[in-house]
Amino acid sequence: MIGDIVYLNGRFVEKDDAKVSVFDHGFIYGDGAFEGLQIVNGRVFLLKEHLKRLYDSVRYLGFEIPMAPDAFRDVICETARRNGLENGYVRPIVTRGTGPLGIRNMAQLGAPTVVVMAQHESIESRREKWNRGITAQVVSVRRMAPAAFDSRAKTCNYINNILAYLEAQAAGAETALMLDAEGYVAEAYSSNVFVVKDGTVATPALGHILGGITRATLLGLCRAEGIPAVEGRLTTYDLLTADEVFECGTMAEVRPLVRINGRTIGPGTPGPMARRLHRCLREMMESGQHGEPIATA
Ligand code: PMP
Repeated sequence: MIGDIVYLNGRFVEKDDAKVSVFDHGFIYGDGAFEGLQIVNGRVFLLKEHLKRLYDSVRYLGFEIPMAPDAFRDVICETARRNGLENGYVRPIVTRGTGPLGIRNMAQLGAPTVVVMAQHESIESRREKWNRGITAQVVSVRRMAPAAFDSRAKTCNYINNILAYLEAQAAGAETALMLDAEGYVAEAYSSNVFVVKDGTVATPALGHILGGITRATLLGLCRAEGIPAVEGRLTTYDLLTADEVFECGTMAEVRPLVRINGRTIGPGTPGPMARRLHRCLREMMESGQHGEPIATA
């Protein structure tokens, strides 16, 4: 069964045996980093880019992954292969490790904990959202200020995002849009955000957001397609007056936001730019040229 085999600290084990100590810093403090990758037709899409972000996140946290990137790449591919995951999602997680309670005792931790999990994700339920578009709520929970925590690091502490999601849910919306500490648009709770106005695509600049790999890929596709694209500061004005708004992420791909805070965006249906960029992204994913085959690991 897909998801039944988990990589845990050098071994592939059954799901029920994939156990981490309650003394693990990931459990106690959210002290770790993770990635989410999509497998498309037996290939891990943009594996190098995800690994680079994982190594950078862990470096920001101030410890080292006890494995070279090439070895980690093989472990990710092998986890997908052992789970028979031709299409789906893989989740590597690295935490600072296990040891005595107390941040002051950090020097006594053992080796970092390394986990890779796999999960099947149905394309049908995702396609339904791509075709219909989803609703969003600009929430009161702000993205953290970079002086407190730089959101480029994808760490195991997602409380900020979870609070944002809960608030959106309570408002009856499917996704949460977060502002930065100064009130400019930052990102959605688990994806980046783009607006389209008069043929120009715009997205918040890096600084208060996760440097999404899909975001960077879409900006590259805009350049290749000759679509004007800018990175800068956006406000809720830009959201509410846009011709189109969409969010993007590894599994979300390109997901149109057709209602924000109960207001209809553009005509209230997925727009032509979102469709075009999603088509380009899908072609890239399905071409196999940017994916690491899981079979040869
Ligand atoms: N922002 C946040 C907060 C996320 O969790 C994600 C999903 N990883 C993204 C943006 C999108 O990033 P990516 O395109 O690399 O999946």
